Amino acid sequence: MGRITLDKVTKSFGATEVIPPLDLTIEDGEFAVFVGPSGCGKSTLLRLIAGLEDVTSGTIRIDGEDATMVPPAKRGLAMVFQSYALYPHMSVRKNIAFPLRMAKMAQDEIDRRVQGAASVLNLTDYLDRRPGQLSGGQRQRVAIGRAIVREPAAFLFDEPLSNLDAALRVGMRLEISELHKRLATTMIYVTHDQVEAMTMADKIVVLRAGHIEQVGSPLELYREPRNLFVAGFIGSPK
Ligand code: ADP
Ligand code: MG
Repeated sequence: MGRITLDKVTKSFGATEVIPPLDLTIEDGEFAVFVGPSGCGKSTLLRLIAGLEDVTSGTIRIDGEDATMVPPAKRGLAMVFQSYALYPHMSVRKNIAFPLRMAKMAQDEIDRRVQGAASVLNLTDYLDRRPGQLSGGQRQRVAIGRAIVREPAAFLFDEPLSNLDAALRVGMRLEISELHKRLATTMIYVTHDQVEAMTMADKIVVLRAGHIEQVGSPLELYREPRNLFVAGFIGSPK
């Protein structure tokens, strides 16, 4: 399960309010994309959901439970970092297993989950390599594998493809969409790239200066942008 609800959530850094009161619901199994220009608060919002930042006020619920004060490791969510967050001296197997070893899970259960993730991600033949011996796309898959083994209620991605070249980005986009179909788990995906938003999302959340300009499916935003900002961002004719 992975229904995430934000109720009047705000975030200030010092005297600067970067997220004014914000309400948002992401349904279980949904692929939600936060899109908006640089500095609009996408990462901050994701980090609030992940628990990597504390809210200034408001409530975050995960499957109806108040998670506002719950530490990140106990929220049942997995943040997928860019592939360069891998440990270069560890094998792929150990990189993927890392969060489970930290959680002191039994070795046979770790092995089972790593095998499962590797199979879903087509990494079975690469488990004994080091990250440096992989392509950029494979490294990104390892980073995703490290999230999958935790069997999270939701995956949180913050511009995971921004350090990949354009061709690879297209491929990884498709792979992440495929993965979402296969796992049917909630995913929240942050990007400043309209094309990613339009091609991957069930629900797009358009952010501007910390507030939500519009929420809707790609088709809804394309057909009925609420204003010129959304229209400009989505690339529709209004
Ligand atoms: P985005 O991810 O959309 O580019 P961010 O969430 O990173 O935007 O940042 C939103 C705003 O919050 C920006 O003005 C940024 O400078 C500010 N901000 C983010 N993190 C911090 C922080 N730790 N301290 C102070 N200001 C921050
Ligand atoms: Mg960001």
